[in-house]
Amino acid sequence: MGALRDRFWERPLADLTTEEWEALCDGCGRCCLHKVEYEDTGEIEHTNVACTLLDPQTAQCTDYKHRKSFVPDCLRLTLRIVEDVTWLPATCAYRRRADGQPLPRWHYLLSGDRKGVVRAGVSVAGRVVREDEAGPLEHHVVDWGDGDGPDDDEGGAT
Ligand code: SF4
Repeated sequence: MGALRDRFWERPLADLTTEEWEALCDGCGRCCLHKVEYEDTGEIEHTNVACTLLDPQTAQCTDYKHRKSFVPDCLRLTLRIVEDVTWLPATCAYRRRADGQPLPRWHYLLSGDRKGVVRAGVSVAGRVVREDEAGPLEHHVVDWGDGDGPDDDEGGAT
């Protein structure tokens, strides 16, 4: 964490270094789930089907460094993408900071606890099915809710 500036998460996203940008992720795993997009309406629905590289029990990518080699369409979040996509959860640190909101209290950068995201009910760990066992994505549409953490509304970046 030596390369990270003090309370860097309070800075504008555009001002973050690559290391700080990466460190902002709470590891919830929600952006690593397949989505269903309807061609006629453009509507996007969420599923509980994990990307092939996501460990279903931990919700962590099993090969983050080389993920693009295995999953070419894996989205590398950038500021522009964060501002453009509608499907990042309300709890996502990138989305919150892009909207000028503080991190939720349970975020590990505030709490020092990497498991906070699990306790807050935001992590998908243990709540997803593997891609190779799922069958049609349309059978796995779920509503993950938006802003699940008990402290989410309070923000807490103080
Ligand atoms: S939704 Fe946001 S916080 Fe959660 S894993 Fe994806 S980038 Fe990280």
